[in-house]
Amino acid sequence: MERLPYRSWVEVSRQQIGDNFDAIRNTVGSQTEVMPVVKADAYRHGAVEVSRTLEERGAQWLAVSNTEEGVALRDAGIKTRILVMADFLPFTREAMLAYELTPVIHSLEDVAELDRIARARGSRYKFHLKVDSGMGRLGVAPDPAPILAALSDAPNIELEGLMTHFASAGNYQSSQTDEQILAFEALADALAREGVKPRYVHLSSTIPIAYGRKRAWRGMVRPGHAIYGYVSPARGQAPTRKLAVKPALAWRATVLSVKNLPAGALIGYGGMYRAQQPVRIAILAAGYADGIPHRLSNRGRVIAAGRFAPILGSVSMDLTTIDVTTIPEIRPGDTVTLLGHDGASSIDAQEIAKLAGTISYSVLCGIHARVKRVYV
Ligand SMILES: *Cc1c(COP(=O)(O)O)cnc(C)c1O
Repeated sequence: MERLPYRSWVEVSRQQIGDNFDAIRNTVGSQTEVMPVVKADAYRHGAVEVSRTLEERGAQWLAVSNTEEGVALRDAGIKTRILVMADFLPFTREAMLAYELTPVIHSLEDVAELDRIARARGSRYKFHLKVDSGMGRLGVAPDPAPILAALSDAPNIELEGLMTHFASAGNYQSSQTDEQILAFEALADALAREGVKPRYVHLSSTIPIAYGRKRAWRGMVRPGHAIYGYVSPARGQAPTRKLAVKPALAWRATVLSVKNLPAGALIGYGGMYRAQQPVRIAILAAGYADGIPHRLSNRGRVIAAGRFAPILGSVSMDLTTIDVTTIPEIRPGDTVTLLGHDGASSIDAQEIAKLAGTISYSVLCGIHARVKRVYV
């Protein structure tokens, strides 16, 4: 395993990010625009590098959560359209418009506000309107009359997109997604009858793409997780997956120290682990401050020299102890794998999430900014 002069780092494959993007485009076909989601620093893969890669591969649109993320991409020279999905706060509107970011508007009051700003500046801004089709989070109610009234009172702005988001897309035991689709379609049809036909209509994140819920693809899809190589398992009688993607990120840490402890020794905070027999331990230069979930204490594992090594005792802030009794060749300065492949062994974010009682999204987003990023 290669050594790098860092305590802990992630290796991100640009090639794999690009290949995942292509796999999604091939799945949905050329009639559907793919807008990769690069919020939260591209799920910690590095928003600037990931966005450059996607732009080079032909992405026309990228989606972020907030204005600051969009501004960082513009400052890095990204020229694609950028949709800001969860902002339009009073103190970010100026920058959002100045940097040519496209807002998602979630309330009819904000439709009026955007129109007022456009009129005052003599500009014509495009926006996407978020509909709450049943998730109970951001968005306007799917009631056509007030939306039509708000739009006709807003002649200086253009409704370019109509969108919604699913609460339970991976749960095929629930009818919530079908109900959301029906509510959203009823609204879109009612608007269309009145001549309101936005260029982009979009509903789908990774799961409805991956499991082939074509009715929800329409003219645009918004994959995040799949861009990074993940599709969460579905519940119930899901159709077979239509999308093949692979993780683009590997996470490594350096061994700080190796030593032997006698039978009966306690390891780490709280003496959470007691050695039943003599044990050889390696102490890694990464801990929960780097994003290793504390819940992996005494139950996670890493890969050392191609073999699995259990985590012993509690994960500390900056350190984690592993058992290398059966891997005696491990030395200080060696590299171990926290997530990714090493030899024939591999660990992915889903395995870590399961052990830690969380979701793979949270494992990826939890990789701390102090963990160096290396692009391969
Ligand atoms: C994060 C997000 C997505 C991407 O979701 P994935 O499950 O990562 O594909 C799409 N749409 C909205 C509104 C989001 O917030």
